[in-house]
Amino acid sequence: MTNSIIPAVTRCCAPVTDPGSWRSRQCSKRATLMHEDKPYCGTHDPERLNALRVARLTEVNAKVSAVIRNNLIRQASDKIVALAIKWSAHADAAYGNDWQHEWELMHDTLNDLEIAVKELNAL
Ligand SMILES: [Zn+2]
Repeated sequence: MTNSIIPAVTRCCAPVTDPGSWRSRQCSKRATLMHEDKPYCGTHDPERLNALRVARLTEVNAKVSAVIRNNLIRQASDKIVALAIKWSAHADAAYGNDWQHEWELMHDTLNDLEIAVKELNAL
C-alpha cells in the first residue's frame, strides 16, 4: 500500500462520471470542507454549486421574462393597430347616411384605443 492513496474518509464524496463513461465513481479530490456531515472538495462544494444554479436560473428567468414582455408588447401593439383600423373604417363610414351610428362606434373605438394604449404603457 502506498502513501499516495488518500483514505476514503478524506476524499470528496461527490459522484463523478468520466467522459464517455456511463458509470459514476467517487471524486478523487481531497475534501476541503464538510457539508451536512459529508466531505466535499472545492469543485463539488454544494453551496457553491447551488449558488451557480441559482445564478443560472436567475439569468434564464430574466431571459424568459424579457421574451414574455416582448410578446405582450407585440400583442398590445397589434391590438392598437387593429383598433386604429377599426376606427378609420368607422370614420370612413361616417360620411354615409348612418353617420350617427358610425360616430358612436368611432367614440367607442376611441375609448377602447385609449384603454389599449394605457395597457401597453403599463407593460
Ligand atoms: Zn469533488
